[in-house]
Formats: sequence, structure tokens, C-alpha cells
Amino acid sequence: MSVEYLKKAVRTSKTDASETTKIVQEILDTIEQGGDAAALDYAAKFDKYDGDILLDDAAIEAAAALVPDKLKRDIEFAHANVKRFAEAQKETCQDIEIEVIPGLVAGQKSIPVETAGCYIPGGRYSHIASAIMTVTTAKVAGCKNIIACSPPRPGVGINPAIVHAAKVCGADKILAMGGVQGVAAMTFGLFGLPKANILVGPGNQFVAEAKRILFGRVGIDMIAGPTDSLILADSTADPAVVAADLVGQAEHGYNSPVWLVTDTRSLAEEVMELVPKLIDDLPEVNRDNATAAWRDYAEVILCGDREEMAATSDAYAPEHLTVQAQDLDWWLGRLACYGSLFLGEETTVAFGDKASGTNHVLPTSGAASYTGGLSVHKYMKIVTWQRATRDGAKPVAEATARISRLEGMEGHARTADIRLKKYFPDETFD
Ligand code: NAD
Repeated sequence: MSVEYLKKAVRTSKTDASETTKIVQEILDTIEQGGDAAALDYAAKFDKYDGDILLDDAAIEAAAALVPDKLKRDIEFAHANVKRFAEAQKETCQDIEIEVIPGLVAGQKSIPVETAGCYIPGGRYSHIASAIMTVTTAKVAGCKNIIACSPPRPGVGINPAIVHAAKVCGADKILAMGGVQGVAAMTFGLFGLPKANILVGPGNQFVAEAKRILFGRVGIDMIAGPTDSLILADSTADPAVVAADLVGQAEHGYNSPVWLVTDTRSLAEEVMELVPKLIDDLPEVNRDNATAAWRDYAEVILCGDREEMAATSDAYAPEHLTVQAQDLDWWLGRLACYGSLFLGEETTVAFGDKASGTNHVLPTSGAASYTGGLSVHKYMKIVTWQRATRDGAKPVAEATARISRLEGMEGHARTADIRLKKYFPDETFD
């Protein structure tokens, strides 16, 4: 490939990974030994919070009363769209049943896990939409217990809109606890909660690392760490829209990479001139995040043609992928590695982030090369079953006995032998 970097990242989100692992492991170990009290200590330390951890009905109602009606309607709109999309996904979880050979029937069932622990980030921003994305899909999947967990603001508690959204979407318990201590509380079953079978939801590097370390004793949706976004733009793209979309995603955090991949030098140059101006115009916190993200993590890559653009994009496997170029069907057919794809200028990542129906909990840091984002399927255990008639069992038992003996597994072979002898006493088998 002959790509040219008009702007290259000076840092990657993996830079400080080993330090994070050390911090997170220590917090997890301390909480596992110290239980509720240790989790409360970390809540006081990191979030300066010593209020109620499990919200009761009165607290949930009080939170709802603080949410403006218009925002309630927006939450309901987004919830309805995410629910509709999730219900369509649920329809694809069809049970199957086939006769493998005459007399032997095998099947597959999709069974939802019992308890889902939904992490809703709330450090920098109040991710109301994450409550909608995680809790709604768990509910549609059919999980019996849904725990929503989000960091409290110092001395105040969880943002009331997050509490209200979690309740509307179907949360059974709402836990005011963030970061590693929140993840630990759901996994270890602290504060009287049922132990989560699966942890879902995005979070900062501490949350993502806690999920990674705990994976195995609890299921996880994926590692959804700092957001990343890539825009593919050709000469037909509007530089002002491309620049606005890059800035919109860079504001996620100081370490949220945004990448522009284009075959048009003049577009790239115009976008690079516009982005700092748009960042300067943001409110302070957003400006600080976007400034650092653009300075340290952003890249602008010039390619020779659209095939090279597509190959470059697939190599990055971005979480969010936007195409602002001609022939959207070609791109839809060609692109293979992304968490969620936004085709054309008329839609944008923020639509998917907030309200259009597709899920915003998506694989980051290249994980889109092997997984998609949060869906109903992530809560489902795909299990199999079988039953047989005696005649159906016969050829399987014969093959099983021979394969087992060749493997040296005599006990296995005898489970086949006993059936052959019982069902076909007059026959001999070798
Ligand atoms: P967060 O809720 O993930 O983290 C806040 C918690 O971090 C606090 O409660 C605190 O306990 C813990 N913490 C802070 N500093 C710590 C330290 N030094 N040591 C240990 N723990 C510490 O909220 P956030 O920080 O705003 O991060 C949200 C993240 O989620 C962002 O990176 C954003 O990009 C990402 N996100 C990703 C997606 C996705 O789908 N991939 C969607 C939305 C948000």
C-alpha cells in the first residue's frame, strides 16, 4: 500500500495498559476479600460518595421527578427504537431441531443468561444512552435479573436521567457505584445482589480492564474501552460535515482516536484546517478532551483509491465507521471490520450513539476484527441437546466404542458397549 500519513498519532490507547492492569487487579483482590465495606471505601475514594448504594423505589421516583418531560419523551423515543431493533435480533435466535441420522435427533436452543450486570459509564459524561442500550437489550433477550450500575456524582448520586432511563428500559436493581468497584459488586454479588452471569457495557480503561480480568468467572460482552471512529471520505464529501463528525467523536475522551481516510488531498487539508477551529469553539471539558485526542491520537491518511481506503479501514477495524463517499452499496459490500457502519452524510455516529436503534456498545481498539457490538445474542447461551431411539443409537454406539478405544478412553467405550449389549443382546460388535 502507498498510503501517506498527513497526520500521525503519537500515542496509542495501549501505552499505559500494564499500569492499569496492576491498579485494577489490586482493587478487585481487595474487594473480593473485603466485600461490601471494601467496595464502599473505593466509592468514597474515587467518587467521593457515601450515599445509598442500592436505589429504592422512592429514590427512583424522586429521580424521575427531576427529569424534564421533553427529555423523558426523547428517552422513550430512543428506547422504542433500540427495543424494536433488539426484538428483530431476538427473532433470529431460532431454536433448531434436525434428524442427524435416522433415529437420532439433535437440537439447539438459545437460553438467556439469568442475571445481566449493565455498566453505565458516568465519569466524564452522563451516558444516558448507555442505560438504554444495555438494559433494553438485556430485557428483550429475556434476562430475569437486570442490574444497572453507574458511578454517582460526588455527594449527589447517579444522574437522575440515567436512573429514569434504566428504570424505563427494565432495570430491576440500580446500583450507585462506578468503576472497578461497580463491576466487582455485580460480579461478586455484593449488597445482596444476585451474582451477574454477564457484564455488559462500555467504560473507561479501568472498567474495561476489570471486565477483561474477570472474564471466565463471568461472561462479558466485549472489551468496550475508549471510543474510536474512522471516516472514509472521497471528493464528494463535505469537509465541514466531515470535520464536525471527527470533532464530535474526539470529545469522548483525551484518548479517543479519530481517523480520516481519504483519496482526496484537498479535502484532507481543508478538514485539518477546520478541526482545530471547531474544537476551540466547544465548551471547556469537551474542548480539553477533543484537543488532546486530536493532538495525540488522531490520524489523517491519504490513499490512492477506494480499494486502498477500504483495506486501510479494515486494518484499523474501527468501532464506528462512517462513509461519506459515492456508491454506498459498494462500501457496504466491501467493508468487513467495524463495530457499526454509518452510510452517507444523512446519518452519523451520534445518531447511533443516542437514538436510531442500533446499539452503541461496540468493540474498540481493533476488536471489531473478531466481534460485533452488543446485541441480544450476547446474552444468549447457544446450547445443544439430543435424543435417540435404540436403532438410532446403534451406529453411533459402535463408532463411539471404536473411536474411544483408539483414544485410550476405555470408560467412554464401555458406555457405548453397555447399550449395544442391552439393546441388541443377540448381536456381536467389534
Ligand atoms: P466510567 O464510568 O467508565 O468511569 C468512572 C469510574 O472510573 C469512576 O467511578 C471511578 O471509580 C473510576 N476511576 C477513575 N479514576 C480512577 C483511578 N485512577 N483508578 C481507579 N479507578 C478510577 O466513566 P468515564 O471515565 O467517563 O469513561 C467512559 C468511557 O466509556 C469513555 O472512555 C468512553 O469513550 C467510553 N464509551 C465507550 C462506548 C463504547 O461503546 N465503546 C460507549 C460510550 C462510552
